[in-house]
Amino acid sequence: MGALSALDRLVERSRRIGADPALVLYGGGNTSTKLFERDHAGREQRVLRIKGSGRDLATCTARDFPGLRLDELLPLRERDAMSDEEMVDHLGRCLVEPDAPRPSIETLLHAFLPATHVDHVHADAICALANAPDPAAAARDALGEDVAVVPYLRPGFALAKLVADAAAGARAVVLAHHGLVTWGETDEESYGRTRELVDRAARFLGLRPVELEVVPSSRSLLELRGRVSRERRQVLAVDAAQRALAERPDAAEIAAMRSTPDHMLRIGARTNGDGPVFLVPGVGCVAAGPDPRTARMRLELAAHSHATTAATRDRFGGASWLTEQEVDDFVHWPLELYKLTLSPPPPELEGHVAIVTGAASGIGREVAADLAARGANVVTADLAGADVEGDLTDPRTADALVEEAVARYGGLDAVVFCAGVAVTGPLAAVAEEEWRRSVEVNLTSHFLLTKRVWPVLRAQGIGGSLVYVASKNAFAPGAGFGPYSVAKAGLVQLARIAALEGGPIGVRANAVNPDAVFAGSKLWSEEVRRERAAAHGIPVEELEAFYARRSLLGREVTARDVAAAVAFLVSERSRATTGAVIPVDGGVPAAFPR
Ligand code: ZN
Repeated sequence: MGALSALDRLVERSRRIGADPALVLYGGGNTSTKLFERDHAGREQRVLRIKGSGRDLATCTARDFPGLRLDELLPLRERDAMSDEEMVDHLGRCLVEPDAPRPSIETLLHAFLPATHVDHVHADAICALANAPDPAAAARDALGEDVAVVPYLRPGFALAKLVADAAAGARAVVLAHHGLVTWGETDEESYGRTRELVDRAARFLGLRPVELEVVPSSRSLLELRGRVSRERRQVLAVDAAQRALAERPDAAEIAAMRSTPDHMLRIGARTNGDGPVFLVPGVGCVAAGPDPRTARMRLELAAHSHATTAATRDRFGGASWLTEQEVDDFVHWPLELYKLTLSPPPPELEGHVAIVTGAASGIGREVAADLAARGANVVTADLAGADVEGDLTDPRTADALVEEAVARYGGLDAVVFCAGVAVTGPLAAVAEEEWRRSVEVNLTSHFLLTKRVWPVLRAQGIGGSLVYVASKNAFAPGAGFGPYSVAKAGLVQLARIAALEGGPIGVRANAVNPDAVFAGSKLWSEEVRRERAAAHGIPVEELEAFYARRSLLGREVTARDVAAAVAFLVSERSRATTGAVIPVDGGVPAAFPR
């Protein structure tokens, strides 16, 4: 064991660059080292190790650096032109390991520079210079005469040649509207030069490191969340640190610009009413995304883009950016879009926000897990063991639950009402307190929450889905099970009223009627089991088999079966269904919905 290998040092240097958001963000930038490696026959060859396309410098490992045979890359410099397709094809043929990740689009830029180590970053401070009305003059003033500046060109063969030509006799190259290229004969020299130039640029501009202040979303953003969710549901993330930027008279110009094309790829070419990022006066920056991670990523990219643009405008009295044609060429460029195809297709309920009550056990727990597995952002409620803990018969708990969903994700799309309690006893004997408790928990609590989610769904203007988990008992009650059966019958009626009143605002309301779901359920306490077994005249240990036998399908019903019906009702697959009751009881003729 001794010194780190050249590849290990490249990984270490890359991670150091990736760890500083002032240098690169989320897959931006790339690094390389030219070294000697032995091939399968033991022959020594010159290899360029460069970051794979779309790989993240902050978390990279040796596997993220495909190797290319340098002697097969260098002759390309003699050519006059090369198309992107030809270039990608050629790079593929030069790979040392054929199954390695696709090398960076900027591979030839690294290859053509003679230095052993090359770093390329999209640093905020450099981009603030590179987007000045005159990028070359700005870079010269801030960084000195020995830093070359090349005009904007989309990465590829032509840019690689341009940079190689400009680099002769220079210490570094600034790419207009793009970033910085530095190099050195040691890792430290290359990294140190990046650091030095970026720090100088920041001092010249008075640009401080960008810091986010991520805060909860609020009701004032519900309409915005609805607007960005019309095509596909999205969640919001909010940065209060950009409040001052949002108040500037030129906020619209700042929001419309990006500091590098790489930001443009991930947060959109420009900001309009559809987002995905907004500067909102009094709030700061709001970013929308199909999941919290993406929304947060966009929030961070926007923070850097906006701060950089503001710095350029403040220092130079204006800014320059790509032409419409260049924007179009970049955002529709297959080589950049390739990076976005690396992620799997989105799950069905991506971007959806769902509340599930009674989520600590039984059906509620299964429903919450199932919706989450389908990509929904779930906020759970129960007496204990949930995101929001408390008794839902208390209106304050219902209030807190709705606020939690809005604060975390910016809105709400679905509520699944699973909370319930089994209260038994013949009418002549049941305690009045017990009766009231059953109606409070099994019916009134669901009304309280329905009432409170209504204004949220209305403000968003994109509809929503309410799913009430009632019971087979709603249609086929059992003697001695009055307190429960009456409340559940009321719950089906509540669902139908919600469907009637929700239709005009696109809110669907449906019920699911399960029967005899035993596994993991707190509903079936020992007492209730004994009681129901006695009512049916069977031994208590035969209760499950008894319920299974009496159904048409003769099979046990599980919480999973209920969760599948709920998922259908929450999803767009049931967009034309409201006021319906779906039995999940194995088939009980007496309980057929009517
Ligand atoms: Zn770049």
